[in-house]
Amino acid sequence: MSNENMNASLPDLGTRGDEIRIFAGPCSIESAEQFDAVASCVAGLGLTWIRGGAFKPRTNPHSFQGLGEEGLKIMRATGKAYGLKTLTEVIDSAHCSLVHSYVDGLQIGTRNMANFSLLKNIGLVTAESHKMVLFKRGMAATISEWLAAAEYITMSGNEQVMMCERGLRTFETATRFTLDISAVPVIHKQSLFPVCVDVSHPAGTRDLVPSLAKASIAAGCDALMIEVHPNPQAALSDGPQQLTLSQFAELVEELRKVAAVFGKDIV
Ligand code: PEP
Ligand code: MN
Repeated sequence: MSNENMNASLPDLGTRGDEIRIFAGPCSIESAEQFDAVASCVAGLGLTWIRGGAFKPRTNPHSFQGLGEEGLKIMRATGKAYGLKTLTEVIDSAHCSLVHSYVDGLQIGTRNMANFSLLKNIGLVTAESHKMVLFKRGMAATISEWLAAAEYITMSGNEQVMMCERGLRTFETATRFTLDISAVPVIHKQSLFPVCVDVSHPAGTRDLVPSLAKASIAAGCDALMIEVHPNPQAALSDGPQQLTLSQFAELVEELRKVAAVFGKDIV
């Protein structure tokens, strides 16, 4: 969907405008209590979306794989209770309809950016609902490969795609992945897609998250993804990079000030 060949129907995501959306929530949905604690914090801060993994794409097969459909049930009930929209990852074509029936937004993770049959299936499953697809960049993909892959989703019927930069695999080891902040203006220049920046997975450690989030807003992002957990030390995945609820609340307050400099609101 390049500037040249896109028609007048722009992604209706309330973005590339004056709002920056935050997709906050735990890496994995672990229990109703854990997810409720995060949802209460997120809703209390006036935010509109919550994220959380139910099917986890773990590099190590012995790591926690997620609660599966039980996690989706927790997500739907909690989202309803707090009036939050819900976002979760789909890792398998066989789960597309199931996940679609539970949530408001579907995420494609970095490990599946080039899984073209999954992308086509996501496009087909969301063709009528036009639910948002948050499309993460492959950790070793160029921007042009990533943009081309997004067309598998749009050509299958859903143009409501938000691109999500989440860091690249490079020689650098000081961070978990190298965040390509330039992806934000480049995507804006080369397409009409809105851009999210996941600042938690490139950071790898929570102390780096605030700087990356502020830089992303300054670069013009339309959304941020931030992992938050009521007790990160006990998290079943990605503990070191998840913010505590109070750290998150403090960060949102700071981010609102940064966003205001650019005339934007955080939602
Ligand atoms: C996630 O957002 O939970 C996730 C697994 O991210 P990524 O695909 O970017 O590693
Ligand atoms: Mn994670």
